[in-house]
Amino acid sequence: MSGSKTRPSDAHLKELGLGRWRHRDSNGTDGAGNEAEEMNDPTAEVAGNVEEEKSKTTTLTLDAEGRHLRQWRIVRKEVSECVLCDLHRTRKNTVFGVGAENADLMLIGEAPGADEDAQGEPFVGRAGKLLDSMLAAIGLSREQVFIANILKCRPPNNENPTLEQAEKCRPYLDRQIDLIRPRAILALGAVAAHNLLDVETPIGRLRGTVHEMSGSGIPVIPTYHPAYLLRRPQGKAQAFEDLLLLCDVLQDLGSQPVAPTEKSESSA
Ligand code: SF4
Repeated sequence: MSGSKTRPSDAHLKELGLGRWRHRDSNGTDGAGNEAEEMNDPTAEVAGNVEEEKSKTTTLTLDAEGRHLRQWRIVRKEVSECVLCDLHRTRKNTVFGVGAENADLMLIGEAPGADEDAQGEPFVGRAGKLLDSMLAAIGLSREQVFIANILKCRPPNNENPTLEQAEKCRPYLDRQIDLIRPRAILALGAVAAHNLLDVETPIGRLRGTVHEMSGSGIPVIPTYHPAYLLRRPQGKAQAFEDLLLLCDVLQDLGSQPVAPTEKSESSA
């Protein structure tokens, strides 16, 4: 870094009432062996301090990034080895979640299904395709958000998570939310909304309104689960309204503007 330091000209130094610039050699003396003159040059000291501060800031940033990456590695490993609830006996794969680890938006569903269990990724198959279309409707892709579930392992026969399963698995999701710090969460389906909001209100009454996640205060927008929308396509118009609401929330929070279009609406 010191090699890139701009040396002031003698004329500029003179104008500022400062002494002549001399290059400090490896012995700590100037080129002419006159250390006293170098010691009297205050610009060298200021420049040195600035470089030192920059270096400290860079080190701190790298430390923070390193800690962040380590936390992600730890939580991933813990999930992959988890035997905290009975679902570890029947799963093929744990489904940790996928997407941008610094996303403004998190999508949270219920639990992995058969396709997700087989592939280790959330929202694949037909429901996943519909979710991709819903995201595209608001100008986003799967890579720009983070997608996770309340449970990391598949309940047999796609049963709803039990209270015990949800409680055992919840710390993993909370740690993901802490690491990502999303500006908003889209809760996909009743199970996700009930767990995040700690309520039992039917999803039809929760959707269409912005809620706050218990504890964190993060805005939560509940909507229908894509699998439900595949069974009941009439709900797509309401789901699109929820996406528009989500856009407003994200824009109000200073996130990237998203622009729904007529074409996108019909595809969701
Ligand atoms: S569902 Fe969650 S708590 Fe249960 S075994 Fe899987 S990772 Fe562990």
